[in-house]
Amino acid sequence: MRGKLLYEGKGKQLFASDVENELIQIFKDDATAFDGIKHDVIAGKGVLNCAMSTFFFERLHEAGINTHFIRREGKAEMRVKRLSMIPVEVVVRNVAAGSICKRLGLEEGMELDYPLTELFYKSDELHDPLINTEHAELFGWAAREDIIFMRDAALKVNQALSDILTASGIRLIDFKLEFGRANGEILLGDEITPDGCRLWDAKTGQKLDKDVFRRNLGNLPEAYHEVASRLGVSL
Ligand code: UDP
Repeated sequence: MRGKLLYEGKGKQLFASDVENELIQIFKDDATAFDGIKHDVIAGKGVLNCAMSTFFFERLHEAGINTHFIRREGKAEMRVKRLSMIPVEVVVRNVAAGSICKRLGLEEGMELDYPLTELFYKSDELHDPLINTEHAELFGWAAREDIIFMRDAALKVNQALSDILTASGIRLIDFKLEFGRANGEILLGDEITPDGCRLWDAKTGQKLDKDVFRRNLGNLPEAYHEVASRLGVSL
């Protein structure tokens, strides 16, 4: 049962539910890039992302990582715990791609010796600037121990996702996570989908993530279907 619309972002909506501290998260068919400048509606994307997010959250629970996910309740709809979001995005990188290449003049595809974590301040207005732990602490976005906890959880997520994807012939290049608080505990929130990860075919290097849309590299649902079918995710 869906209540009032509480929040609408570029890719998802959050509704109140029949239970006080639980929300309904709906995955939209919208695809956006470059702070919303590029926008398209891609039929079926919401269902694909809901199915894949469900699959990944369930695998993370099995690996002992706590998330806001409760259960899938519809094709593009899941029940989640209500979180008070921490405005710090955690990115984990195994291979250089995207913004780090531009920022540091690295070649895309450069293998990193160990997973790198980066923090970004979540602000559309400021285009999510790169920050460090001191910024987060000084400006009250997250305490030092919260950052340590989130980095540690993000590295565990990296290990779990890399294992699953590698077994399906997919390389996990990088991904972004968002965390929030519920009852004094920090939980992984948001979503885990090819919208927020870079996924490359292990053999051919073909991109199977949102870069297909960002860079006009082909058909996005085809790429997402490929990931879902290799993982054995049923829609
Ligand atoms: N990412 C995301 N949302 C953002 C920024 C980044 O989901 O607002 C994901 C992105 O899909 C990639 C990873 O985080 O998998 C690292 O992104 P990067 O910093 O390279 O930025 P981008 O090149 O996506 O602008």
